[in-house]
Amino acid sequence: MKILFAASEAYPFVKTGGLGDVVGSLPVSLKRHDLDIRVILPKYGDIHKKYKEKMRYMGHTYVELGWRKQYCGIETLKYNEITYYFVDNEYYFKRPGYYGYYDEGEKFIYFAKAVIESISVTGFEPDVIHCHDWHTALLPFLIKNTYWNSKYQNIKTMLTIHNLKYQGVFSKNILREVLGLDDSYFNTECFEFFDAVNLLKSGMIHADMITTVSPSYSEEIQYPYYGENLDGVLRKYNYKLHGILNGIDSNIYNPENDSQIYANYGPLSIEKKIENKLIFQKENGLPQGENIPIVSIVSRLTEQKGIDLINGVIHDIMQSDIQLVVLGTGSFEYEEMFKNLVWQYPNKIRIFMKFDEGLSRRIYAASDMVLMPSKFEPCGITQMIAMKYGALPIVRETGGLKDTVLSCEANKKQGTGFLFHDYNAHDFLYTLQRAIKKYYENKDQWKRWVLNAMNQDLSWTQSAYQYKHKYQLLVEKDAEKKAV
Ligand code: ADP
Repeated sequence: MKILFAASEAYPFVKTGGLGDVVGSLPVSLKRHDLDIRVILPKYGDIHKKYKEKMRYMGHTYVELGWRKQYCGIETLKYNEITYYFVDNEYYFKRPGYYGYYDEGEKFIYFAKAVIESISVTGFEPDVIHCHDWHTALLPFLIKNTYWNSKYQNIKTMLTIHNLKYQGVFSKNILREVLGLDDSYFNTECFEFFDAVNLLKSGMIHADMITTVSPSYSEEIQYPYYGENLDGVLRKYNYKLHGILNGIDSNIYNPENDSQIYANYGPLSIEKKIENKLIFQKENGLPQGENIPIVSIVSRLTEQKGIDLINGVIHDIMQSDIQLVVLGTGSFEYEEMFKNLVWQYPNKIRIFMKFDEGLSRRIYAASDMVLMPSKFEPCGITQMIAMKYGALPIVRETGGLKDTVLSCEANKKQGTGFLFHDYNAHDFLYTLQRAIKKYYENKDQWKRWVLNAMNQDLSWTQSAYQYKHKYQLLVEKDAEKKAV
């Protein structure tokens, strides 16, 4: 089977969050299941020079956008045994950063069309195009409509929703001006969403299969609280909706051989983890102490991540004997809140307002606990990395957090973290305080939980098997239909 991943991020080329982790690591695992799997991405200007230098030009074609034709160069690179294709168009992609420009809708409509047009250049004709998030959610519509009478009409599509909050909603003019479609497509069974165009919704309607990144989230999003105004559409199409839990790549996230951390360690050499704490404290001007728990946050600073809860009880949290480390970027209001705290607790808090992969690993390695009191969490990669590095996650019981963290309080023997249920600042505070108390009171018990967390199978193995099974269903169903 030939599978083409179409996405806007893949580690190590582009990563702004969990999407980059998933698209960078799932193909490697799927390849072990004998799938011919390739990945297509935009060739962003910010991709590191060391990768760009190795890319090879394959050819070019053009993409029709309304009355215009836009250049579409295709370059390729093999990395980790996976073939990557990069769509080259400097007008759209040669800009600093990846998102947030005025023409986001046009840019990703261009990219979706480029994914199909690129097939004539690469010669790779996939059985399934696996689309990720709203950036590529237009593809199922394109295959079933714009390209319905072409050789691409039999390609099956799977749409994975990594975060339902981001839907690609644009003014309705985009239909005519960029997609070249008439108003008949502006209806609720296609693109229409509160008088605007919603690309993710069109993907959910037209995809042959929808998946999301944890079983719990796939249930939650069918209710209004989590459904981001699309719960009705999800209920209608729930016969083709599945939840498959994300994994992490244990070659990338492995404290035993991670070259970015200060001292390597594993479950059998757990005593070496402490060196990471001591060096981190020293380098960052925190009082050194083996026994002071480092509690950290590595996160986008947005409402989703429960920063409001942290804000609500931060002064109570800081009464405990802990050191708080924050690595993240996001809304101005949250960044300011953390910056102000440094003035108030100069010996207890360190804040890094940037995106820094290496630093994130050093923080995980130095930490004893990682906070994720998310309002909602499709899967969450952060808590999995934290567990792999022996930092126990303190999480709200929602989405993928619920599916990956086992309560130490409810399962004394097997526990891997601490959970609270309601989105309530004091429930969060009390849970964190109980964890801190356990840390101080019972070192042996804590160590057992840390080992549980580190020894868990958080790899892609199980999930890759499930994805393969779903691809098979899509392709076989089609073969059956043709036979009839
Ligand atoms: P989301 O995709 O919603 O942002 P996830 O928990 O699924 O959240 O994935 C976040 C990923 O991004 C993790 O790999 C985490 O370590 C990483 N990350 C988040 N913020 C930063 C940052 N400021 N610097 C480095 N890595 C970060």
